[in-house]
Amino acid sequence: IGRINALLAKVQPLTTRLLLQIAAFGRWLTAAIAGVALLTFAFGMLVRDYSFGDMFLAAVGLAVAAIPEGLPAIITITLAIGVQAMARRNAIIRRLPAVETLGSVTVICSDKTGTLTRNEMTAVSVATAGHIFGVSGVGYDSHGSFSLEGGDVAIGEHPGLSELSRAAVLCNDASLVEGDGGWQVQGDPTEGALVALGMKAGLDPAFEGAEFPRTDGIPFESEHRFMATLHHDHAGNGFVYLKGAPERVLEMCNRERFEGADRSLVLPYWQGRIEELAIRGERVIAVAFKAAGKERELRFADVEGGLTLLGLVGIIDPPRPEAVEAVSQCRAAGIRVKMITGDHALTAQAIGARMGIGDGGSAVTGQELESMTVEEISRLLERVDIFARVSPEHKLRLVLGLQAAGEVVAMTGDGVNDAPALKRADVGVAMGIKGTEVAKEAAEVVLTDDNFASIAHAVRQGRTIYDNIRKAISFILPTNGGEAGIIVAAILSGRMLPITPVQVLWVNMITAVTLALALAFEPPEQDVMARPPRDPDEPILSSFLVWRVVFVSLILVVGTFGLFLWERLHQGSIETSRTVAVNALIVFEVFYLINTRRLKESMLHRQALAGNRAIAVAIATVLLFQMLFTYLPPMQRLFGSAAIGLGDWIRIVLVSSSVFLLVELEKWVIRKMEVRKKEIPGRLLR
Ligand code: ADP
Ligand code: MG
Repeated sequence: IGRINALLAKVQPLTTRLLLQIAAFGRWLTAAIAGVALLTFAFGMLVRDYSFGDMFLAAVGLAVAAIPEGLPAIITITLAIGVQAMARRNAIIRRLPAVETLGSVTVICSDKTGTLTRNEMTAVSVATAGHIFGVSGVGYDSHGSFSLEGGDVAIGEHPGLSELSRAAVLCNDASLVEGDGGWQVQGDPTEGALVALGMKAGLDPAFEGAEFPRTDGIPFESEHRFMATLHHDHAGNGFVYLKGAPERVLEMCNRERFEGADRSLVLPYWQGRIEELAIRGERVIAVAFKAAGKERELRFADVEGGLTLLGLVGIIDPPRPEAVEAVSQCRAAGIRVKMITGDHALTAQAIGARMGIGDGGSAVTGQELESMTVEEISRLLERVDIFARVSPEHKLRLVLGLQAAGEVVAMTGDGVNDAPALKRADVGVAMGIKGTEVAKEAAEVVLTDDNFASIAHAVRQGRTIYDNIRKAISFILPTNGGEAGIIVAAILSGRMLPITPVQVLWVNMITAVTLALALAFEPPEQDVMARPPRDPDEPILSSFLVWRVVFVSLILVVGTFGLFLWERLHQGSIETSRTVAVNALIVFEVFYLINTRRLKESMLHRQALAGNRAIAVAIATVLLFQMLFTYLPPMQRLFGSAAIGLGDWIRIVLVSSSVFLLVELEKWVIRKMEVRKKEIPGRLLR
């Protein structure tokens, strides 16, 4: 534990890119706003000889107009809403910014057993020195029988089979209970399968346990890959049963059991059988025996050698159908899935082939990883997707190798030893059911159902959230750009401000808490899982978003300032003219909200309000607030607004709706340009 702790302390967690980008954006925006406010101030004082007081107010108004006060709140709320949606799909987010990282994941490293597969283990074959038996039966049900080349066999005729079954039952911590939904395992599923095997051989686990009580044991661990138990019969004679990964167990054996007697081990025979089972995708467990004396203590040294191999058990663990589906979704989304398992390389490859992982390519073992440098691992990872006989320590090396190649890595884990890799990964994913507290503590995401499909869902949600944040930004900033532009235009042309600082604050607040918030509820776009992961280095304010903000800001400035001037020219009081300007800005934003539901796709052939109830609610709310703003006397006093007539409203709607058509036209042009760019080969478009 001390070593793991030291490892954990040494691992540097990465700050997420969104946080860095938002911080950078904030600095950039502050500097820009301060600069523009100062310039305007100087211009007003020197060129237009406004009074100092007027100009000071105008400069403050400009700063207020340009700062998107609601943006931080909207980003946080969008993340929080996404977190709720993920929790409903079995992924609990422990750190908010991880949501956004999930959306940019390029590689998912997943444990095989229990995450990609169901962890419902059934022993289907047994190999002894003489034969390979088939085992029938479903799940953990204790009904089933043994067969040889298709014909049923009686256990009594094969003493080797019954001794192996006894060892499998005694060297075991799991138990089976019959419930409503059939037989259930309590404990390790691998061991549950062995209990069922023993029952099929006619053994009663409780009876065996009482007959040969366990006096000591070495528990299974992924590091040493075996488990051993010491038993004594009533006469006090001791013996050891041991089971574990076959290569490991073979190292300890020098003899084998053949027709009831011991003879020296025929290594090539067993290697052949191991491959035979593994190639079928079976998880292979070797079982061995050793006589012991009266001593009631079992040490590692006691099982280092001199054991007798009883045979092999082949266990199947079928892939989860939804995980197979999720793997193919990830592929479509440009995300590579890598399988990590403690199982034999051939087993891993066979399961990988069934799940569409690794293209049938070869598997690399943990041992091979150990002797490689991070650069070598990095290169290896380009072509290898399956890692077998891996222990948790190797996972950290995989993560480092992937990150060295610039990948954004999600890594799953459950054990204490997985914690360093989970912490280092861009997104650590811990198992909620079988995971340890230490693993959950180190992870960003906890899966309540231990299922790979939930990771894919979380990625989909993460991408959606990032989309929605981009939409919120491209929606909010033009309001600020528009307001600032209107104030600058007024000062340049030497007129009174079309909107006062308080009105600016009103517009910012009311559009943020209604319209912008609605975008946080936007459902995933159809192609979220059909496009490649976004470039993590791409700034959140891409050149496309900057263009869009400037473009829409200009439309807002021209429309709003135009309506204000029209009102002034037609003898409108300054109050009514300003009220027209404020309402025009808001109605512009209402139309632009519909545009923003898709950043580049057309909204012309889509229903403006479909698929997101929040849109309609937000529009209704903001219009209600504008009625209060315009007609309620206390509001008029507070904001200096005044009642306006029907003619004004008609003009406002006519002018404001232009933004919808103009932005749709712009989207069309952009789509055309992108198609043309795509035709230039070798060019990557984001
Ligand atoms: P995974 O990560 O795929 O669950 P493990 O590290 O748990 O892999 O298991 C590695 C190997 O150890 C298995 O292929 C199997 O041969 C053996 N093994 C697994 N569980 C047990 C157990 N409870 N007792 C003995 N051997 C086991
Ligand atoms: Mg395991």
